Formats: sequence, C-alpha cells, structure tokens
Amino acid sequence: MSHTITIKNEADTQIFAESLADFIAQQDTGFVIFLDGDLGAGKTTFSRYLLQKLGHEGAVKSPTYTLVEPYTIADRAIFHFDLYRLGDPSELEFMGIRDYFSGNALVLVEWSEKGAGILPEPDLLLSIAHGSAETERTIHLSGQPHILQLLGADVTA
Ligand code: ADP
Ligand code: MG
Repeated sequence: MSHTITIKNEADTQIFAESLADFIAQQDTGFVIFLDGDLGAGKTTFSRYLLQKLGHEGAVKSPTYTLVEPYTIADRAIFHFDLYRLGDPSELEFMGIRDYFSGNALVLVEWSEKGAGILPEPDLLLSIAHGSAETERTIHLSGQPHILQLLGADVTA
C-alpha cells in the first residue's frame, strides 16, 4: 500500500517528521525506516526533526562518513545510517548489521539501495523527491496498511 504527500516547505517536513515521531514513540517494537531520494532531497533534515521530536537534544550529524550514528533516547537504541559511501553491500556484514536491527531499536537508513540484498525489509519506506519549487517535495510512503492508515490520519489533516 502506498500514499503520496506534497510538502510545500521545510516547516511542513518538520510537521510530518514530528507526527511520525509521535507514532514511533507509541510503538514498543523495533521499527525500520528507509529514506530514499537524491542528494539534498531532505533525508537528513527529516531524520533530524524526527530525532529531536523523540527527545534528542543537540546536534544530529549526517552519518555520511561514519555510516552510522547511534543514539539512545528513553532507553531505546536508535541507529541513523547513511550508506551513500558504502562500497559494497557485503561491508554491512562486516559491521555486524544484524545487531543493529534487533530488539526494539529504531533504525533510519538513508541510501538504503546501497545495502540491497543485505538489509531487512523496512516497516516504512519514504521516497523524497524535489518538486517544482525550491522548497517543495513529494514524499511517497509505502508500508503495511495499518501503519499508513495511522500516519494518513495525520498527514492528510
Ligand atoms: P539529504 O540528506 O537528502 O541529502 P539534506 O537533508 O542534507 O538532504 O538537505 C536538504 C536541504 O534542503 C537542506 O538544506 C534543507 O534546509 C533544504 N530544504 C528545503 N526545503 C526543504 C523541505 N521541504 N524539506 C526538507 N529539506 C528542505
Ligand atoms: Mg543525508
């Protein structure tokens, strides 16, 4: 199931990221989000608003060079990946990738296509694309119907 929303500016991106954070905060199981889209689409910006709404204070660095940035918020492990610089998906196995996708961890993955064949399926895939105006974006969401319905109530309001 999928759903597309149009975002006019960064403030709208913030509103959507914050509504997703509220949803995730209510889940006590692991949750995996893939964020796809070109450089500058807004994947890191989205992740930053989401992490801050979950309660992270301070900077949210882009994990472009480190591949992963770990956080702990309210006793929950959060891993923010950026696989842009990953040479080969098999490198993820050397990193012990399975350990990151365990327990009730929240995992955000930018450039998930670089880990194709190794990464597990996401609970939610957000594909962000530039729109016609400078700050306009479209976000294509796909995932299980119950997740999209819960989010849809927020995003179409
Ligand atoms: P990515 O991680 O996808 O490469 P970034 O989040 O690092 O992209 O950069 C997105 C840039 O676009 C930021 O400079 C941000 O301020 C800007 N921007 C403009 N409009 C939006 C929007 N609607 N949503 C997200 N970012 C936006
Ligand atoms: Mg980024």
